[in-house]
Amino acid sequence: MTTELLFRDDAYLKTASARVLAVTDRGIQLDRTIFYPLGGGQPGDTGSFVRENGERIAIADTRKGDTPDIVLHVPAPGTSELMPGELLTLEIDWQRRYSLMRLHTALHVMSCVVIAPVSGGNISPDKGRLDFDIDMNLLNAEAIEQGTNELIARRIGTRTVWITDAELDARPELVKTMSVQPPRGAGRVRLLEIPGIDLQPCGGTHVGNIAEIGAIRVVRIRNEGKRNKRVEIALKE
Ligand SMILES: [Zn+2]
Repeated sequence: MTTELLFRDDAYLKTASARVLAVTDRGIQLDRTIFYPLGGGQPGDTGSFVRENGERIAIADTRKGDTPDIVLHVPAPGTSELMPGELLTLEIDWQRRYSLMRLHTALHVMSCVVIAPVSGGNISPDKGRLDFDIDMNLLNAEAIEQGTNELIARRIGTRTVWITDAELDARPELVKTMSVQPPRGAGRVRLLEIPGIDLQPCGGTHVGNIAEIGAIRVVRIRNEGKRNKRVEIALKE
């Protein structure tokens, strides 16, 4: 009983229909979903399920199950219990997700301006950050902001590329993140390509063209430890 991950092929799906496979303490499992589950520093989606009788079930969070192709939708407290086999209309909180997509893609671009191993990262709807293993003196907010916005202004289309585990093993330079290795064992790994700028393993949701980011500003740069110099960014609007 796995879930078809519709967001992986089309991050712009705001609604879809799906059937309930199972309801457990940990969440609701569907046969297909547009809800992204928490992972890779990107939070799980929120939104609603609409039942055939029109009743709305608020979804407060989305998490992975025991395997990556199981997605658990966590209902808000006090909502009615769904029945396996039931047909639903899914709606994600698009405004929140689109902000996450813009910030997530902005972090890919920023990681090509600060040339250093990435030791951490996180995204929320209003800001995103990457931690770098770098000397603090080499991080200049103005230069990072300007360099990132110059790349964004190139208005390049992004694309998803799949490679085999063996191809990834042969190209270790693709993996910038020291703390998180891309999932292996499925035989293939998903990469995000921003042609001419970035190519790295990533399972998250991204905008179709980096122009959609608009522009970013560096909110702050902070020392979070020996190997974690944190650069926090936000969208300019
Ligand atoms: Zn990504």
